[in-house]
Order: sequence, then structure tokens, then C-alpha cells
Amino acid sequence: MSDIPNSLTASRHSEPQDRLRWLGLFVLTTGLLLVLLVVLTPSSNITRSSLAGLSYLEDPAGTLTVSEVVASKDKFTIAESDTLNFGLTASTHWVWIKLNRPFGSASSQLYVELGYPHLDVLQTYYNVNGRFEMQHNLGDLVSFNNRPVKDRTWVLPVEFTMQDASVDVLVRTRSKGSVQLPLIIHTEESYRLADRNEQLVLGLYYGILFGLLAYNILLAVGTRENLYFEYCAYVVFQGVFQFSQNGLAFEYFWPEATGWHQVSIPIFACFSLLFCTRFTRVFLNVDRQHYSKLYVLFRVVECAFILLALASFYFDKSLVIMCVSIAVTLAGMFMLGVASYIYLRGDPNARLYLLAWGVLLFGIIVYAAKTLGFLPELFITEYSVQIGSVIEMVLLSYALADRFNRLKNENIKVQEEASATLEINVAQRTRELADTLVKLENANSQLEASVLRDPLTNIYNRRHFNFVLDETLAEAKASQTPLSLLMIDIDHFKNINDTRGHLMGDDVIISVAKTLEACCAGSASIPARFGGEEFVILLPDFSQQEAYEVAEKIRLSVQGLDFNENAGSQSLNVTVSIGVSSFVGDNNSHDTALKLIDRADQALYSAKASGRNQCQQYQSNDAGSGSEPGSEPGDTWAA
Ligand code: GH3
Ligand code: MG
Ligand code: MG
Repeated sequence: MSDIPNSLTASRHSEPQDRLRWLGLFVLTTGLLLVLLVVLTPSSNITRSSLAGLSYLEDPAGTLTVSEVVASKDKFTIAESDTLNFGLTASTHWVWIKLNRPFGSASSQLYVELGYPHLDVLQTYYNVNGRFEMQHNLGDLVSFNNRPVKDRTWVLPVEFTMQDASVDVLVRTRSKGSVQLPLIIHTEESYRLADRNEQLVLGLYYGILFGLLAYNILLAVGTRENLYFEYCAYVVFQGVFQFSQNGLAFEYFWPEATGWHQVSIPIFACFSLLFCTRFTRVFLNVDRQHYSKLYVLFRVVECAFILLALASFYFDKSLVIMCVSIAVTLAGMFMLGVASYIYLRGDPNARLYLLAWGVLLFGIIVYAAKTLGFLPELFITEYSVQIGSVIEMVLLSYALADRFNRLKNENIKVQEEASATLEINVAQRTRELADTLVKLENANSQLEASVLRDPLTNIYNRRHFNFVLDETLAEAKASQTPLSLLMIDIDHFKNINDTRGHLMGDDVIISVAKTLEACCAGSASIPARFGGEEFVILLPDFSQQEAYEVAEKIRLSVQGLDFNENAGSQSLNVTVSIGVSSFVGDNNSHDTALKLIDRADQALYSAKASGRNQCQQYQSNDAGSGSEPGSEPGDTWAA
């Protein structure tokens, strides 16, 4: 744990905090809905006490007149429950509702509510003076503003005169969608209360949806993550679909647009499913690389929803509703199947996704069970789809945050691994660079040495000597100090080469060079190889006499060298001849480097001529012999 950097541990610590926050929101939402359940569960005894009879008659051709229907009163079937459900049917249905005068109520009015908002035709006939007359011509095919009570469902006010102990209401209905007539009877007061409560619940539902939408739009804009946009589109269309499905869109948005109202619900259902599918695809990372076949399947389903939405404009409503219902079921199973498959493959994202869908599915099952009569008509069963839908959306929103967090942590990890690798690489490169620099320095000094030094003896070569001589002579002139030069040549060296071989000759050259260095050690003198078996030594600050003494020392040292160990049976004696020349430290002198060399050379030749193995000084001869070119007149030699 200790090697995890601070930022990473910080973000890991924030993860459970996030979880707690979202869990809190989840508990709060469900808690609030449960409180509402207890407070708002309608205590509708009125339906039971006021409903004296409920029966129905099927009119397959839809041609019966009201008087024919009244005449065949005995053919009516008595309803088994307050909620009539004829399903998808082309038949016209007549429903006979017999109402008792409201007991113990001051009001002489009842409100008959038919709680299913989507019926194409809904005509009501009241018994007036023994004859049934049409009271209201309602249904989705006429303007919303025609309704006697402005409610998303059908609410029929029934007036009792002083004489009426009961009133008969005849309802004629037909629809291309499902035909359902869940009947609730209210007094005026209980209707207002139920209506207010319902508005509160629906307001809460759409409020939560709106809050989720606003929050996720901000996230979508902030992060520019495609997934958030898909989620927002899904929430928008799911909200609009529910708004249409509840009948609220017809009431608030397009009360006169009956044609559009007919097609709007399947279209919004298709778009809601389209974005749900897209969200699922992106959320579960179903892309071309990971799941190529599933990806294609998703794309096909998405196209199918667009086509189905377009088809809603052209095909018969009952056919479209049937297709959409089948598509919803298939798509739901498809997405749940895919999520389960991906979850089983170990993707943690799919876990929350499955939970969210599980909650919605549970809500739908509860609603279906209530509709089929397996569960009682309670707030929680009535609004189970909305509750499930809210919890689903909250969970999906949390899943988004969770997914984002996970991605963030992965990114931080990758970044840290990358920067650690980078640091190692940089350190390695730095070391390599330092090594290279050292090698380069070595190579440079070797190169410098090879330019300045003689490869055989490793003392300075002639090139360097020339350079040093010019500089030292200029300094000597400036400081008016003497400067001497020795020119040394091995005697009869050719013989050594000829009789002992060139390798032996090389050994002799190396030994003589070492002897020169040894003799010069501790002084500022500079020995160099002049060429072949000839050497020079530059002696700054040495007078000619002092230089001569050095020359003698050298000569004796070389003479004392013992080569006999290497030389085999025949003894080998090596001697040198040395010429000495000097600059005396005169500021006005016209001496040049060339002259200095030339004079030492002349002294050397003189030593050779005098029998070798000796040192000679160049002597200026005022008489001037003019013995060599460039020499001053009167030069001579001294041993
Ligand atoms: P003297 O006493 O008059 O100087 O006679 P010498 O034989 O020493 O002089 P000479 O100039 O006739 O011969 C020098 C020889 O040195 C000729 C050349 O082959 C040989 N030599 C020059 N450089 C090298 C070298 O680096 N190694 C070897 N083994 N021989 C060299
Ligand atoms: Mg020579
Ligand atoms: Mg020689």
C-alpha cells in the first residue's frame, strides 16, 4: 500500500464516499415514495357504496343504437370487478353503470372516473325521464377541451335530482388500442383530494426525472462524454413518453391535436427505446472491437426502432401498438440478456445496470399483477412502473458516476505507471549519456595525444615541438631569459637496424626516449622525437653551459644503458651525439626558432665529425666562416 501515490489513495478513498452519497439519494427517494404510499393510499369506499351495478355488452359490428342496446338489457354481462379490461379489440363495448345516491353526502353529485386515458371513442348516455340521451361525446378523436372535467383520464359528473335514488349511465366505447375501463367513483370532495394527490405524485416523478436530467446534462457538457448525452436523450424521451402515456401531454401540450395524439405515444415509445438501446450499447462497451456481432445486432435494433417510429405515421394504430408492444418485450429481453452475458464475463459496469433494469422490471410486473387482479389496488401497485422507472434512472445515473470513477482511477494508474517508466527511462538515458560523455572525453584525449605524441616512444612529436618552440622563444624574448636546445642523434643506428633487426632498433629508440625523459624529470624541459633516431630537448631558462651539462648527463646515461639481455650473444653499445644551441635572452636578438634548430644541428654534425659519443656547443664566431646557409658569420663549435 505504501508505494501507492497519494493521489491514487485519495481517489480510492473517495469512491466509498460517492457510493454512500448515491445510496443516500436512493434511500431518500424510495423512502419518500413509501411515505407518500402510506399518506396517499386512497380510501375509496365510495366506489363500493355507490356502485349499484356494472355490466357490459359487446357490439362486434358497432352498429347498435342506444335504444337497441337498452332493449337488450338482459343480454348484458355482469362485471366481476370494478376494472373492466377488454384488451385489444375491434368491437364496440357498451357499459351499464348503475349509481346509488351518495350516502351521507350533502352533495347530490358523483364523479365517475374511467382511469384509462386512451380510448378513441367514449360516448355517455344518461337516463333522463326514462329515456337515454347522449350527454358527452368524448374520446381521443375529439379535442381535450370537450371534456366536462379537465382531467388526464375520463371524469363524468353525474347529477342526482331530489327524486333520484339511483341513476343509470350508459357508456359506449371503442378504441384501436387496448380497451380498459378501471372504474372509480368519487364524491366531489374525494375527487379533488385524489386529483391533488395524483398531481403531487406525478409532479414528484417528473421533478425527479427533471433533476436527473439537469444534473446529467451538466455532466454531459462538462465531460463531453457521449455516454452522458445518450443517457440524457433516454431520460428526455422516457419522460415525454410517460407524459404522453399518462394523458398529460394531451392535456397540457396538444389538447386540440387529436391526429398527433393518436401517433405520439408509439413514436415516443420508439424513441425512448432507441436511446435506451444506444445508452446500453455504449454503457456496456459493446463496440466493434470487443463484440462485433453484438454491435451489429444493436445497430439493427436501433434502426428497427427508427423504422417503427416512422411506420406509426402510415400504418393502422392497432397494428403499430401491437408491433411496439412486441418490440418492447423483445428489446427488454435482449438488453437484459446482453447485460447478463457481459456481467458473467466479469465486467463490473454491468452489475449496476442489471440492478437498475431489475427494479424497473419488478415495477412493471407489480403493475401487471395489479391489473390482472393478483395484487390489490394500492398507491404502490398503481404507480409501480413510475416508481420503478425513477429508481431505475437514479441507479443508472449512479452507474454512470461509478463507471466514470472507475475510468478515472484506471487513468490515474496508467498515468502513474507511465510516469514511473518515464523516470526509469530518463535515469537510464542520463546514465548512458554520462557514460558516452566519459567515453567521448577519453576518445578526445586519446585523439589529442595521438596528434601531439609520437606513437612509438609516446613523447611529444615534432609538430608539437615546433609549436612549443615558437611560443617558448617568444616568451623568452619577452622576459629576456635564456633558452637552450639539444639536438640528439643515435650513433651508427643504421648498423643496429641492419645487424639486430628493426624491432631491436625500435627498442633502442624507446630506451633512449625514456632516458631523455628521466634526465629532464623535475625541470620545465620538453623532450620530443624530431624524426627517425633523432631527438630534441627544449630547455627554457637554461643557459648554454647549463644545457651542455644536461647533454653530458644524457650522453653518459645512454652510454650506460644495458641492452645485452635483449641483444642476445653479441654485446650492444648504444651512444648518442648531442648538439647544443642557445638563445641568450637578448631582447634585440634576431634569433628565430629555425636558427636555433639549425645551430644545434650544426653543433651535432660537428660532434659526429669529431668521432661521435660526445656533446658540442654551438659557438658564435665573430670572424664569420659562413659555413652554412642562414648562419651568422663567425659561428664555430666547442666540445
Ligand atoms: P650516424 O651515426 O651518422 O647518425 O649514422 P646512423 O646510421 O645513425 O644514421 P643514418 O641517418 O644513416 O641512419 C638512420 C637510420 O635510422 C635510417 C633509418 O632506417 C633508421 N630509422 C629511422 N626511423 C626508425 C625507426 O623508427 N625505427 C627503426 N628501427 N629504424 C629507424
Ligand atoms: Mg640521423
Ligand atoms: Mg644516427
